[in-house]
Amino acid sequence: MEEWKRLLRESITTAEGLAGYLDVDQDEIRDTVRRYPMRINPYFLGLIREKGDPIGLQVIPDREEIEDRVCIEDPLNEEGDSPVPNIVHRYPDRVLFLVATQCPVYCRFCTRKRKVGTPRFVTSSTIQTGIDYIKGNSGIRDVILSGGDPLLLVDNEIERILEALRRIPHIEIIRIGTRVPSALPQRITKGLCNIIKRYHPVYINIHFNHPDEITEESKSACEMLSDAGIPLGSQTVLLKGVNDDPDIIKRLMQRLLAIRVRPYYIYQADLTLGTNHFRTDVGTGIRIMKNLMGFTSGLAVPHYVIDAPGGGGKIAILPDDNLVYIDNKIVIMRNYTDKTYSYPQAIDLNEPCVQNVSRQGEEIRVQGTGGRG
Ligand SMILES: *Cc1c(COP(=O)(O)O)cnc(C)c1O
Ligand code: SF4
Repeated sequence: MEEWKRLLRESITTAEGLAGYLDVDQDEIRDTVRRYPMRINPYFLGLIREKGDPIGLQVIPDREEIEDRVCIEDPLNEEGDSPVPNIVHRYPDRVLFLVATQCPVYCRFCTRKRKVGTPRFVTSSTIQTGIDYIKGNSGIRDVILSGGDPLLLVDNEIERILEALRRIPHIEIIRIGTRVPSALPQRITKGLCNIIKRYHPVYINIHFNHPDEITEESKSACEMLSDAGIPLGSQTVLLKGVNDDPDIIKRLMQRLLAIRVRPYYIYQADLTLGTNHFRTDVGTGIRIMKNLMGFTSGLAVPHYVIDAPGGGGKIAILPDDNLVYIDNKIVIMRNYTDKTYSYPQAIDLNEPCVQNVSRQGEEIRVQGTGGRG
């Protein structure tokens, strides 16, 4: 048996199982797992140092999950944008295609908590219906395989899906969203890489939340994927007590670049039922972004997005004080160290180039760079 399959089979899924390794309240775990499944595979378990640490918090069930009275089951209204089961068609040119229900671990904060770990949600018939839908809609040029975790399917099933999608002429790119390289890196085998690279261009976005998830094993999994010509991106969810800290996120982004993973998105946590205790405030997210922009490689700066409740899609949130003032003559802006600079608009060179711009009562004397001076 392949190592990853053995690791999955040896995963902890019960309160008694977990109590063998960590000092946990078995009743709490049991009550929570009755509603939302637990899976902690031996590799990920090995990253947990103690119960409340940033790795443990992500996968150890908490009674707060079943006591959440604030959030909702399907906060992004994915079901509302779903023309056929397991396809979410929200944007004009791309779809999300849920092809798996299993994951290497069950993250307690998962946006699809309503579905993951429940095998009946994905069948060979929903996969076929999804492929037919994509085939029938020539406006779709980008398919994002998600779930659950698509890379928990066996090689044959992955190949069957990739092959079917590649046969559709209007599909330009295929993306895979996965937590496998960070949570079960043993799943990235030579065989799997050889399959994926036959269907290029394939992009992979990897879910990474904490610098401690970057290990020799996850590094080597990412290297194998990169060497198969797959561009790698990362997606990170801001989580209270896990990574809601500017220095932790900076370290994570820098370490991702060092293993050739380009940070793509930082997500504000969704309003998913059972996850309210993980939510941070958006001000924290903005502070985290300000600690990246300018202070470290531009490549280490992802987009910070809120996936709008109700199905509005991802909306980028930027620090709002970079642009101090703009009119048709001048732009006043603030840099990462809080210093103010100006940029003259492309105006008639005969205009005087020194202007006074006033905003909120403050006078800023602006030295233009063009014109006669
Ligand atoms: C996130 C998402 C996508 C992909 O969005 P990008 O910004 O292109 O990465 C597509 N469809 C749905 C429904 C999504 O939630
Ligand atoms: S791996 Fe992704 S889909 Fe699976 S439980 Fe974690 S967040 Fe949800």
